[in-house]
Amino acid sequence: MDLYEYQGKELFRRFGIPVSDGGLAETPDEARVVSEGIGGEVVVKAQVLTGGRGKAGGVKLANGPDEAEARAKGILGLDIRGHVVRRLWIERASDVAKEYYLSVTFDRGEKNALLMLTTEGGVDIEEVAAKRPEELARLHVHPFEGFQPHHARRLVYAAGIEDPEEQRQIAEIIGRLYEAFVESDAMLCEINPLVVTPERVVRALDSKFTVDDNALFRHEDIEEMRDLDAYPAEERAARAKGVTYVKLDGEVGILGNGAGLVMSTLDVIALAGGRPANFCDLGGGGHAQGVVDALEVITADPQVRAIFFNIFGGITRGDEVARGILQAVEQMEIKHPIVVRLDGTNAEEGRRLLAEADVADLHVEATMLDAARRAVQLAEQAVA
Ligand code: GDP
Ligand code: MN
Repeated sequence: MDLYEYQGKELFRRFGIPVSDGGLAETPDEARVVSEGIGGEVVVKAQVLTGGRGKAGGVKLANGPDEAEARAKGILGLDIRGHVVRRLWIERASDVAKEYYLSVTFDRGEKNALLMLTTEGGVDIEEVAAKRPEELARLHVHPFEGFQPHHARRLVYAAGIEDPEEQRQIAEIIGRLYEAFVESDAMLCEINPLVVTPERVVRALDSKFTVDDNALFRHEDIEEMRDLDAYPAEERAARAKGVTYVKLDGEVGILGNGAGLVMSTLDVIALAGGRPANFCDLGGGGHAQGVVDALEVITADPQVRAIFFNIFGGITRGDEVARGILQAVEQMEIKHPIVVRLDGTNAEEGRRLLAEADVADLHVEATMLDAARRAVQLAEQAVA
């Protein structure tokens, strides 16, 4: 789960990472009030779950409440890379002398946490990593050892930060960011820019904070930060129904049982020359209501042109899945062709039920590859 900048900063604050005072606004009027409360120069910042807001015109300085109101008018409703701005974070403007970059994330290859620090902050970090990798100081922290003060000192030196005042503050912030990362079960905690003011005060001007969805059950306060309106309708529906759903950008909606089978289904669709629109994982279940729920989620995606059901019955029984499919097509109007491949436990019984029901545009195929080809072909016909 990605947090908005202001939410990430709220967590930064709790872990003792210095941030600027500010407040939220959803209207130009509220922006004026928040700005009045802060006093002096403020920054008006679009709150959207994507980066590059500055370049897109979503971050503006404002000198006083009048200007804050005007800036808010200009930014609210902006479309930033497909995200419409509905909220603003308004904070006290900082004087910026230098812009650094600091992050903690996972290095999956090394099976360790990875700290990264560079004095070339403010800009796209991928660009720094690609063009001037020597500028990016990197340091792994082994989870058994945990963070130690020497990690921060080494990183600060490696990044070439020479001012003792900066060194001290940044080393402190590194420790706190690592703590925030571990304590929040985060997957990424990033500060870009981490600024140094002309008075040599170091502060986080931005935050990018991603928390592992699988750990949210033990972070109720973070789960509550979720902004349901920011998700597409089908993702909201999936969450509400407890269906595992992932949006992709092709045309074939995929429903399978078990992560392994679903992953290979994606491959087989690609092999057949198609592209998956999304996938739902029924898990070990596959009882009728689960199938209905998943079909509702899949068909809410406007990109879907055909649906591919790929079920291998182990614990899941083929006849039960077949009943689920039949129940779903009875309950809801599905306007896409459905291709079914059923194998494993009670598959024959399931296929018999489907054949007997004789549903229009429901195709049963014998193998996974045949079914994938059929689904891709039907999706192409639907597009044409
Ligand atoms: P992003 O573009 O989505 O990464 O948004 P940021 O929060 O990083 O803001 C973009 C840029 O705006 C920063 O890199 C800064 O250069 C600038 N900026 C943000 N806040 C302030 C501020 O308080 N004072 C000044 N002078 N610049 C700021
Ligand atoms: Mn930024």
